[in-house]
Amino acid sequence: MRLDGKIAIVTGGASGIGAAIARRFADEGARVVIADLKPSDGTMPGHFHETDVGDEASIGRLVDAAVDRHGRLDLLVNSAGIGQSRPFLDTPAALLDRILAINLRGTFLMGQAAARAMIAGGRGGAIVNIASVSGLRGNVGRAAYGASKGGIVALTEVMAIELAGDGIRVNALAPGPIDTPLVAAMHSAAERQAWTGHTPLGRYGTPEDVAAAALYLAGDESGYVTGHTLVVDGGFMAGGLLPS
Ligand code: NAD
Repeated sequence: MRLDGKIAIVTGGASGIGAAIARRFADEGARVVIADLKPSDGTMPGHFHETDVGDEASIGRLVDAAVDRHGRLDLLVNSAGIGQSRPFLDTPAALLDRILAINLRGTFLMGQAAARAMIAGGRGGAIVNIASVSGLRGNVGRAAYGASKGGIVALTEVMAIELAGDGIRVNALAPGPIDTPLVAAMHSAAERQAWTGHTPLGRYGTPEDVAAAALYLAGDESGYVTGHTLVVDGGFMAGGLLPS
C-alpha cells in the first residue's frame, strides 16, 4: 500500500497507460479520480469525472470536484494524449494545433490547476507527466507529436524547479512503444516490425510496465527525484533509432 490514503487525479485514465496507472494506484491504496472524455467500463476503480484537458474551464471543474470530494489533492498523472503519424511537410496547422492543445497545453494547464490545489492543501504532492521517446529522439512521422512531447520534457524541468519550494515533485515518463489503443491506431504493421526490431528487449511494453514506473515516481521512494524524465522503453533510447 505504497500510496495509502493519497488522493490522485489520472487524466486519460479510461484507456491504455492511464487506465493501468489508475488501477495500480488504487491497488496501492490511493483514492483515484479518473478524468477522461468518457468512461471506459464499469471495472475501473475510483470515481470518474468527465473532463476535456483541452478546455481550461473543464480542468478547473475537475480539480474543484476532486478537492470537494476528497478534501485535498496529492497526486496528478497527465496521461491524456492524442497522436497521429504524419510527415512534417504533410502536417496541417490544424493537426499541429490539436496535438499541442491536448498533449502540451493540457499537461501545462492541468499541472497549474493541480499544483495550486496541492499548495492550498499545504502537504506538497507529486506530478507525473507522460512524455514519449518521440520527445527525446527524432522519429519519422512524429513532427507534431514529438514536438508536443519534447515540450513536456522541458515543462517538467521548469515545473520541478519552480514547485520544489512547495514540496511538489514533478517528473516525466517517456514510454517507448506500449500496446494500447493509441498505438494500434498509430503504428502500421511495417512500423510495428521496425519498432520491435529496434527495441533491444524485442517487444512492445505493456501499460502495466509504465504503471510500475509511475508508481515509483508518485510514491515516497522517489522522494529525492524531481525534474527527471525516466524512459520505459525496452532499451530503445540506449541504442534504437527508427529510420525513415
Ligand atoms: P489511449 O488512447 O489508450 O489513452 C489516451 C486516453 O486519453 C483516452 O482514454 C482518451 O479518451 C484520453 N483523452 C484524449 N483526449 C483527451 C482530452 N482532450 N481530455 C481528456 N482525455 C483525453 O493512449 P495511451 O497509449 O494509453 O496514451 C497515454 C499517454 O501515453 C499519451 O499521452 C501518449 O501520448 C503517451 N504515450 C503512449 C505511448 C504508447 O506507445 N502507447 C508511447 C509514448 C507515450
